[in-house]
Amino acid sequence: MSTFNTCFASQIFTTTSRVALRPVATARLSSSASTPPILIRNEPVFAAPAPIIHPLLKEDMGKDLYEEAIAGLQKLLSENGELKPVAAAKIDEITAELKAADGSAGISSESVERLKTGFVTFKKEKYEKNPALYGELAKGQSPTYMIFACSDSRVCPSHVLDIQPGEAFVVRNVANLVPPFDKTKFSGVGAAVEYAVLHLKVKEIVVIGHSACGGIKGVMSFPYDGSTSTDFIEDWVSIALPAKNKTLADCAKDTPFGEQCATCEKEAVNVSLGNLVSYPFVREGLVKKTVALKGAHYDFVKGSFELWALDFSLSPSLSV
Ligand SMILES: [Zn+2]
Repeated sequence: MSTFNTCFASQIFTTTSRVALRPVATARLSSSASTPPILIRNEPVFAAPAPIIHPLLKEDMGKDLYEEAIAGLQKLLSENGELKPVAAAKIDEITAELKAADGSAGISSESVERLKTGFVTFKKEKYEKNPALYGELAKGQSPTYMIFACSDSRVCPSHVLDIQPGEAFVVRNVANLVPPFDKTKFSGVGAAVEYAVLHLKVKEIVVIGHSACGGIKGVMSFPYDGSTSTDFIEDWVSIALPAKNKTLADCAKDTPFGEQCATCEKEAVNVSLGNLVSYPFVREGLVKKTVALKGAHYDFVKGSFELWALDFSLSPSLSV
């Protein structure tokens, strides 16, 4: 049904347990200030001298924003009498959240507590047990990979691929999409790709799609007839429209929607790989063979991970 494998050499990895690499050498964690960060250099980029990890989590973070929101709602209330019941309810809701954030019982305080215990566990079990690794990371980073993954909470690449801190420069967004080179519209992604390729000098850029992706389901579902119902999502996932069109062209008419989405998840990865080639510095890296592009798909239902390589000689349709 899908033809993506005709363009890409594919191999399947099954989920088997593997032993994480641990540093064998020991070193003291460096707390002294190193040179200030320099954004453009032809060597590993060094971290800022400021503390990387703050042991205390502040519970009042964002409080000002809440207060601003309440002030805004109160203003709205005074200007629009008919909105009074709605605004009053919203103020009650935000006030309750504020109280919870202050440490009283409530869902918000539990979620804050979860973050605190999570960090304490990390610091005790990983940070303090790997002084060599974290000592090196305090000085700088030189990751091998740049990874694009979906924002979906089930597909964290560090977790799924057992990637250690310092190994991957990661961009996560809805549907793990790489937009085409566009200085004004997609500067966030462009800045990340530029930094990873030119300054961190990553060797591999990997775009990882996944099963049951809501963003891909979205692009397959939205009519794109001018009747937009979202502020951002439809426009963002429209990056994958070429994948949708290919999927619809390749799939039989009676193909279940879920299968169409599964196909589109992989085709969208291919579109992103093609879009990466529209970045001049990526193109140059490919020509010089200093950077390689890989597509991947993680299926968390089956527990499988598929990886494929971009091969220009076999996939002229992806050349830009
Ligand atoms: Zn997703």
